[in-house]
Amino acid sequence: MQEMILCKLGEVVLKGLNRNTFENKLLANTRRRLKSCGNFKVVSRQSTVYVEPQDENCDLEAAFACVQQVFGYVAVSRAKPCEKTKEAILETAKTYLAEELRRARTFKVESKRSDKQFPLSSIQLSQYVGGELHESFPHLQVDVHDPELTVHVEVRETCAYVHAPAVPGAGGLPIGMGGTAVSLLSGGIDSPVSSYMIAKRGVQLEMVHFFSPPYTSPEAKEKVLQLARELTSWCGRMTVHVIPFTLIQEEIRRRCPEEYFTLIMRRFMMRIAQQVAQRVGAHALVTGECLGQVASQTMEALAVSDDATDMPVLRPLIGMDKEEIVRISRHIGTFNTSILPFEDCCTVFTPRHPRTHPVVADVRELEKALDIDALIEQAMAEDEIIHVRYEG
Ligand code: ATP
Ligand code: MG
Repeated sequence: MQEMILCKLGEVVLKGLNRNTFENKLLANTRRRLKSCGNFKVVSRQSTVYVEPQDENCDLEAAFACVQQVFGYVAVSRAKPCEKTKEAILETAKTYLAEELRRARTFKVESKRSDKQFPLSSIQLSQYVGGELHESFPHLQVDVHDPELTVHVEVRETCAYVHAPAVPGAGGLPIGMGGTAVSLLSGGIDSPVSSYMIAKRGVQLEMVHFFSPPYTSPEAKEKVLQLARELTSWCGRMTVHVIPFTLIQEEIRRRCPEEYFTLIMRRFMMRIAQQVAQRVGAHALVTGECLGQVASQTMEALAVSDDATDMPVLRPLIGMDKEEIVRISRHIGTFNTSILPFEDCCTVFTPRHPRTHPVVADVRELEKALDIDALIEQAMAEDEIIHVRYEG
């Protein structure tokens, strides 16, 4: 029997009523992700999803890497199925885990039995396999509390499975369970991380990016699309709305005091993102803002942004330190792209002395110098829609 993958379901266990939605989304997301790895059968039984290769062309290594990026699993492991006899189980453990058994100094066997017809109890099976392994690998000590190697044996419906220790899954909830949100994606380190964090809560994302040609270069836009592509391995396929921002920024520069540039610009971003959200049926906005990181991210400045939208603004990085954000950015694989040196539209018009404690009423007053609706309408009319898929 061919080696396969066992994926343990995460938080679903807590959510009785949502269980079916959870499992169906998870199965669909897993199947979509595995398409590029070959023909796999993906089925769910008893809080576990079984990923089984159907022919010789399946790339199990690649599939194992893929399932580690699918939200909804707490742990994944490669496993070897075998016949449901104690001899076959022992033989499989010896050969399949030979390398691990040679390397470890201490071990234990942990058995589970969902087939109650199996002649041995879980404890008896563990004792049998453990005793025999100890004979074959005499250097091994049994340690039931903190073993270096745990040999897992599961006796299930059609066969038994032997697997080595699981690796952590991506956690979170399956994408699509939590509705849709619009994420404001810049070319920086933060917004890819905030996007990832909200996607992890089961939210399908639509991206919005503002760019300001000729102040920002085509490379800056390409960089953002590259970040979106990198995010698809976690967030799934997504649509990026690229929205021209030049006229709006020039108009703000012409008609508003310099110290308010960033604040007013941010309000336009919120308004446009909200319109995109309404168009695509999304119910929240996501930003990579972090309290105190820059002048435009004080509490008062955040209040000024929030005042421009009726939607909840999700800011998953709000209380994080830069090092934590960078660590996640490296983990999800966006860091190296994020640090490429291209200008963002925000950096082009940065005021020398930005307002750090703005008052909402003052900003509303200053905006009266602008034809807000017309500016937004014109920008939305030139919205370029780019579909980004997972490419494996
Ligand atoms: P990042 O690293 O994500 O760019 P930052 O620390 O540079 O964040 P700002 O430039 O102040 O912070 O941007 C704050 C948030 O506003 C970003 O995280 C992002 O969600 C949004 N944002 C900024 N610039 C753009 C842009 N050009 N297009 C879309 N969203 C943007
Ligand atoms: Mg930025």
